Amino acid sequence: MARFTLPRDVYHGKGSLEELKNIQGTRAIVVVGGGSMKRFGFLDKAVCLLQEAGMEVKLFEGVEPDPSVETVMKGAEVMKEFQPDVIVAMGGGSPIDAAKAMWAFYEYPETTFEDLIIPFNFPTLRQKAKFVAIPSTSGTATEVTAFSVITNYQTGVKYPLADFNITPDVAIVDPVIAETMPPKLVAHTGMDALTHAIEAYVSTLNCAFTDPLAIKAIEMVFDYLPDSYDGNMEAREQMHYAQCLAGMAFSNALLGIVHSMAHKTGAAFSTGHIPHGCANAIYLPYVIKYNAKDKTAEKRYAQIAKSLNLTGTTDKALVDALIDKINAYNVRLNIPKTLQEFGVNEDEFKEKVSKIAELAVGDACTGSNPRPITPAEMEKLLTCTYYGTPVTF
Ligand code: FE
Repeated sequence: MARFTLPRDVYHGKGSLEELKNIQGTRAIVVVGGGSMKRFGFLDKAVCLLQEAGMEVKLFEGVEPDPSVETVMKGAEVMKEFQPDVIVAMGGGSPIDAAKAMWAFYEYPETTFEDLIIPFNFPTLRQKAKFVAIPSTSGTATEVTAFSVITNYQTGVKYPLADFNITPDVAIVDPVIAETMPPKLVAHTGMDALTHAIEAYVSTLNCAFTDPLAIKAIEMVFDYLPDSYDGNMEAREQMHYAQCLAGMAFSNALLGIVHSMAHKTGAAFSTGHIPHGCANAIYLPYVIKYNAKDKTAEKRYAQIAKSLNLTGTTDKALVDALIDKINAYNVRLNIPKTLQEFGVNEDEFKEKVSKIAELAVGDACTGSNPRPITPAEMEKLLTCTYYGTPVTF
């Protein structure tokens, strides 16, 4: 038995933010990040629309990137006092992720992060509130997924939360809100979306329900990401939908080791944070080469290549064509080819790679990767991504 879960409603299209005025409830709390939603006027607009819907509105502002346990607890406290029956989370991935966790602690004050990190073990939500998610970036798709990542800065541990209870009730995918993204963010979040769709398509949990969403998302990213990067707002709109389709696929089919590697390297080096989508973009071609040694995975990658009208007389040739295409997109989007090119220090890399490899193998995303991997193989794979050497094992 498998389960396929999506939000009850996905409103999409320019101006779909207006749907907020039709949300039913008495008290709405709006959770936002550091200020861009306010600066661009979307926060005020959302508040007005909720008031128009007859609701009393309260704000919770200032959710940081990579939201902390403290922020989640603070938000849950505010919710306990205000007793909202509608939670509206708006912004990049972070405020939406944070609000998902606040929601759990609001409805179940006695629960702990230790309880919640057990995958698919949440108590039944929606006893007190329903959840509306409005993304401002085109990548994480947290508006339609069962996931949230919260960081414990005291211990440096990230809590990945996964449960269909935190799949939002309503997603509002309004491309106007994504128009404000700077080009670098467009590139990184766009490649994150591509990685979601490709990993979902080859995942061990892929199925007839997730495949069409993944394939359509892949086609759309290749069609629209470069123009969106160049500032074409028609293309930006399509990217906003593509990342959402990718999210619907990976929320149900899960991911693979590109994400395992990105999760464990993102904050590992003193030379600076590697943005999530940028790390995915760097690793994706190497991981495809590694995974394609598995015949079933090779076939799946070849199917992706065919859907993109790439040519090749064998599955191997088709997979290589897909890798070439991804490499070309990375060049077009000014994404480095290796960790070395990104600026990670060589000595530090060598010192840390074996520990990172071990952690990456243990990441929650490794389980659904189409080809198994040992810590020793992971170390070799990471080393290839550092120097740009070919993956031959
Ligand atoms: Fe991702």
